[in-house]
Amino acid sequence: NWPVYGEITGPLIMIGFGSIGSGTLPLIERHFKFDKARMVVIDPSEKNRKLLDERGIQFIQQAITRENYKDVLGPLLEGAEGQPFVVNLSVDTGSLDLMRFCREHDALYIDTVVEPWLGFYFDATADNAARTNYALRETVRAEKRKNPSGTTAVSCCGANPGMVSWFVKKALLDLAQELELDFEEPAPDDRRGWAKLMKKAGVKGIHIAERDTQRAKAPKPFNTFWNTWSVEGFIAEGLQPAELGWGSHEKWKPKNARKQKKGNKAAIFLEQPGGNTRIRTWCPTHGAQYGLLVTHNEAISIADFFTLRNKKGKLEYRPTCNYAYHPCNDAMLALDEMFGAGGKAQTVQHVLEESEILDGMDELGVLLYGHGKNAYWYGSHLSIEEARKLAPYQNATGLQVSSAVLAGMVWALENPQSGIVETDEMDYRRCLEVQAPYLGGMEGHYTDWTPLEGRGELFAEDIDTNDPWQFRNILVR
Ligand code: NAD
Repeated sequence: NWPVYGEITGPLIMIGFGSIGSGTLPLIERHFKFDKARMVVIDPSEKNRKLLDERGIQFIQQAITRENYKDVLGPLLEGAEGQPFVVNLSVDTGSLDLMRFCREHDALYIDTVVEPWLGFYFDATADNAARTNYALRETVRAEKRKNPSGTTAVSCCGANPGMVSWFVKKALLDLAQELELDFEEPAPDDRRGWAKLMKKAGVKGIHIAERDTQRAKAPKPFNTFWNTWSVEGFIAEGLQPAELGWGSHEKWKPKNARKQKKGNKAAIFLEQPGGNTRIRTWCPTHGAQYGLLVTHNEAISIADFFTLRNKKGKLEYRPTCNYAYHPCNDAMLALDEMFGAGGKAQTVQHVLEESEILDGMDELGVLLYGHGKNAYWYGSHLSIEEARKLAPYQNATGLQVSSAVLAGMVWALENPQSGIVETDEMDYRRCLEVQAPYLGGMEGHYTDWTPLEGRGELFAEDIDTNDPWQFRNILVR
């Protein structure tokens, strides 16, 4: 008795059928009316093909490339009966070109990252500013400005980027209530109203604070990279520069921090890889922890969404925002091996399937800090046991992502003429209503932890004792 949220009237095209694609398929089957005979999955790998064959879903074994995407997708979209829906869950496919092509054909589109075409991430001739997510995101924002409205294309709608933008709004409202502020909830698209509320609540910054404790049944062999979601995706982003939305309260920057020269300038980056940059953060179950300052679209989009400028365009307020990711222990170990070997990735790369995992959870939420109640974490606490009961073919991490894709697809069907949107611009209530049944415990926790806890006792440190929530105290140096 699953709720059916809508009908996909045209062909359903899924690009990429790896860990997230195969986890998304059963959710699509449960929650949409669509014609399976008109579903097509495109992937160069046959790894998960069995799931498609069992269902009689058409499979095209091919990599989508800059050179072939029009030829492969064109015949599937042109003259199609009903409205097509393209769900992009692949790596190495250019999100911008794909969403543009879909919109030209009145096809709905969704992805979970601004993915560049193959070659971008490891282009040693590009400068670091060009290899940031800021640069990738700006290309999509420019397209939105150039071609506003039209057929909906949802950009970056996974767990993070994606769902966490909905958590930020829910957490902010919880906090505003706790602080007994006099306020009204802003409308979903009232960007300025939301930014004013964030400022009024006194939030200095936001960590996307995640702890993945899923453990494999067998120990990870040496020279392998294991993770709970795309190893390829994680290595690529881990080798991009560390990057964060840069708040108006910050008084200090590391020496290797660089500003962006073009666009909204909401973010800065460091001349070092995010996968090898640690920061201090906090998650409910295990408390204080190290997280990796891996670049993510949401670090920039959230900082940008909650930016306030005065009439002359001068910056009045912006929260710092960054990803603070403690991946599963196997991935931490794999990163250590990889960076120890000069950044050379392991040749054996593997995404842990649900059946290979012994125990653990993915605790993924947003930590709003620096306000009158110190810090507040709100998010999903999803164990592998719960994930198994909720939906097949995925671990806890995968389900947090695939259920966000589901919510984004529902929103797109209900708002088919909204142009290019990021999750910050969508109705967080509707999206969480659809997604929450798949997120395990949705929990809010206040904490009195700050990044100054336990500091400077055995070794003198360069810290700012007047303001615990400065990036100077958060960054591990
Ligand atoms: P995966 O590595 O398990 O699967 C990726 C799939 O894409 C593979 O099956 C691969 O064969 C296929 N592929 C590779 N090149 C392709 C091409 N040119 N055309 C079509 N398919 C191609 O990865 P995953 O864990 O399923 O992740 C998929 C995507 O989702 C990645 O881009 C990843 O970064 C993203 N992701 C986002 C979030 C989020 O929360 N926003 C979380 C996890 C993953």
